[in-house]
Amino acid sequence: MSGEIKYNLFINGTWRSGSTAADLALINPATEEDFGRVAAASASDLDEALRAAQDSYLGWSRRPAIQRGELLIRAARVLETKVEVAAAALSREQGKTLSEARSEYARAIETLEWNGSHAAELCAAIPLSEKRNIVPEPAGVVAAFTPWNYPAILNARKLSAALAAGCPVILKAAEETPSAGVYIVEALQEVGIPPGVVNLVFGNPPMISEHLLGSPAVRVLTFTGSTLVGKQLAKLAAENLQRCVLELGGHSPVVVFEDADISKAVSAISEYKFECAGQSCNAPSRILVARPIYQAFLAKLVEAAENIRVGAPDDSETKMGPMANVRRVAAMERLTRDAVDRGAKVETGGARLNQRGYYWAPTILTDVHPDARILHEEPFGPMLTVAPFDTIDEAIRAANTTEYGLASYFFSDSADVQKRMIGSLSAGAISVNYLRGVSADAPNAGINQSGYGYEGGVEGFRAFQNLKLVNVASPRLLDPGRQEVPR
Ligand code: NAD
Repeated sequence: MSGEIKYNLFINGTWRSGSTAADLALINPATEEDFGRVAAASASDLDEALRAAQDSYLGWSRRPAIQRGELLIRAARVLETKVEVAAAALSREQGKTLSEARSEYARAIETLEWNGSHAAELCAAIPLSEKRNIVPEPAGVVAAFTPWNYPAILNARKLSAALAAGCPVILKAAEETPSAGVYIVEALQEVGIPPGVVNLVFGNPPMISEHLLGSPAVRVLTFTGSTLVGKQLAKLAAENLQRCVLELGGHSPVVVFEDADISKAVSAISEYKFECAGQSCNAPSRILVARPIYQAFLAKLVEAAENIRVGAPDDSETKMGPMANVRRVAAMERLTRDAVDRGAKVETGGARLNQRGYYWAPTILTDVHPDARILHEEPFGPMLTVAPFDTIDEAIRAANTTEYGLASYFFSDSADVQKRMIGSLSAGAISVNYLRGVSADAPNAGINQSGYGYEGGVEGFRAFQNLKLVNVASPRLLDPGRQEVPR
């Protein structure tokens, strides 16, 4: 190992190593080289973070929301000056291209700004009538868990909404992609966030989640990751009745109707699908195409996939980098083998690239048996299935066939088709004639096995608040937003 990079824990305003647990290794997915270390928290480090967060609660929750918001906006300005170096670090850890990493940071900055600039408005009392008000209060200490696919945007979303709402946070960021958490927390530290309000830890994920959620001081759990782990955390949270925001997996369909512009649909799908090597919860993964245009569509999609330049993430010509870790490559191998064993045809890709690094070729499968695992398990990689359909009923049935319900997409200009599809697709988000992901101003939520609770926008902000109903006969409560917040 080179040992040149080491990312530390941030507890109670201080950067430091884990007190007893051994450091973890950092692997570059493009070269498979070990290039640094990440500190791991022990139980006593977590206890210290819990104490620090609790101790900071009163001061932070009572600080005027406008000041909390201003601090986030200033942190966004600091982060802006570090984007080049932070994006390079993210690309090296995660495998996404430099240009993808830069645009992820742009969205992270936007998110810090959005929550910062809405803090005062969303923390103000909401009058219901002359005598009745809703007074939003910070919900308490937050335990946040973020994954390795979009660490900058996801850390920024969870941190900025919780902090703006007045909640201290203990963030457990992904061990494989620690730098985004470090850069964002450093920016907050630079603008003067008080000690204990933000704590950043890494380590053994099950140990950390059990320890943090075992504390009744934690009032909100926010997690982005797999459905399996989300359910484990929800069970832990049940013990202390901690509120859960669970943004879990997806298996998004795209339905392409006969009247669709084939070229437009193909370029939108290939553009969005192969971003971050397909490791996005909203990425399209099952394409359903009206039979009369099926062959023409498939030929164009295969051509588009074959034109994706796969290579080193720091090469400006590269369109798609490696997968983030060896587990994803193993998953691609397993899903492909299973589908082929059940009769699927590999139209393109279907194999690891013959070079160092976790590279998997953009893959398109057809004739996939309904029982094949790829049609039920979130692929989370550069892999698509394509199938024809004959009627809109058949398309809706196939689109809604998985247990997930995160995002669905379709292409058609027909008003009747649009109305029917919007009303019938079982998903938290629908995009028509383009593919659109999350944004700072809109709630993003899955249904069914994709989770519950909202992240983003007003609803995402409210996840970190308790809404207290205050009835006052007289005199009228003039400024309920400045009430003392009880602990
Ligand atoms: P995983 O489910 O083990 O881990 C996913 C994330 O959850 C990682 O960041 C991990 O550190 C964290 N995690 C795991 N166990 C945890 C625990 N007990 N407590 C707290 N955090 C925990 O799987 P993986 O191999 O890292 O990722 C593969 C799968 O995860 C994918 O197939 C995909 O379904 C899902 N995933 C989803 C998203 C998303 O954006 N919804 C992001 C990343 C991964």
